[in-house]
Amino acid sequence: KKNIAVMTSGGDSPGMNAVVRAVVRTAIHLGCNAYCVYEGYRGLVIGRDEEKQVDYIRQMGWEDVRGYLSLGGTLIGTARCKEFFERDGRLRAARNMVVNGIDALIICGGDGSLTGADRFRAEWPSLLEELVSKGDLTKEQVAPFQHLNIVGLVGSIDNDLSGTDATIGAYSALARICEMVDYIEATASSHSRAFVIEVMGRHCGWLALMGAVATGADFLFIPEKPREDNWKEEMCQVIKTGKRKTIVIIAEGALDRHGNKITPTMVKDLLADGNGLGLDTRITTLGHVQRGGTAVAYDRMLGTLQGVEAVKAVLEATPETETCFIAITENKITRKPLMAAVKETQEVAKLIDAQRFNEAMALRDTE
Ligand code: ADP
Repeated sequence: KKNIAVMTSGGDSPGMNAVVRAVVRTAIHLGCNAYCVYEGYRGLVIGRDEEKQVDYIRQMGWEDVRGYLSLGGTLIGTARCKEFFERDGRLRAARNMVVNGIDALIICGGDGSLTGADRFRAEWPSLLEELVSKGDLTKEQVAPFQHLNIVGLVGSIDNDLSGTDATIGAYSALARICEMVDYIEATASSHSRAFVIEVMGRHCGWLALMGAVATGADFLFIPEKPREDNWKEEMCQVIKTGKRKTIVIIAEGALDRHGNKITPTMVKDLLADGNGLGLDTRITTLGHVQRGGTAVAYDRMLGTLQGVEAVKAVLEATPETETCFIAITENKITRKPLMAAVKETQEVAKLIDAQRFNEAMALRDTE
């Protein structure tokens, strides 16, 4: 009987709870034992806190995940964990896996968490060897755990991983952004104001781009499209004075073509400049509201279908199988090699169709 654990790691995203519910219940349905690792890699490294009498690795029953589908955030907690970057931390994590009898781990997180997972799997045999040679575990204890079985699920509001159309949480964050921009628009047009709205996305402008398309924003800054030196003139040409409302969306990671940051304040100062547009301009940083709240239907569906597939992938994996993650491509749930997608993400970023983007942005209001 396999013992399958699920964990959420890195930035939280709506839909992670759907993943946990689906993994726990699918594992049980298929005759396995289901476990949750609380607080991401931190929980895996700690295992059990004797002083506080807290177990970070807990077996889950069918009813333990009741109500998970509709809730935001991640109920089993997530964390960023420095120790897991070090071999010593990964040694402790390996020990806790063996002691708790966990032979497969399903991790829902961003590209950082999934890279850590792949590293853990690659090192696994040498971690066990070291634990035995140090006398932490016996040969007999580690014998049943020769291969670590890991499957990744991409939980990220940024939709920043290549090889999948959508990451779990991205559509919820996008829906939240649209809702917030709608609220701001009402007050903007009442006062004939301009708003510079900062949205999340340090390396990936998907949220900003789709948010701008979906709200009919006037101008947009994203990291994938570094602005030319004349961006100020360009923006002032597009944004005319006398419009009832002006909305500029800027991703956190907005850049010019020299790699310098373009900040909301720079944009605001330009819009407000009395010699130019002279618009009454405010900045709104949407911040963590983008992460919060319940998951939209799409993320509940994606988290559930991918969670089911992840358990199946774990049960079908062999020692030779590459570490895979679960993707959605052209509406089909598929398994793909994890590290190829991580590498592609780092090298080319997620592709954005520049032509369509320009066509859509040309639809802005003129008055
Ligand atoms: P995300 O998964 O959202 O991209 P992070 O990049 O912060 O978030 O990664 C979350 C955690 O995953 C880190 O705090 C660390 O514990 C682990 N991790 C990330 N990258 C690595 C790595 N290269 N090696 C080992 N662990 C890693």
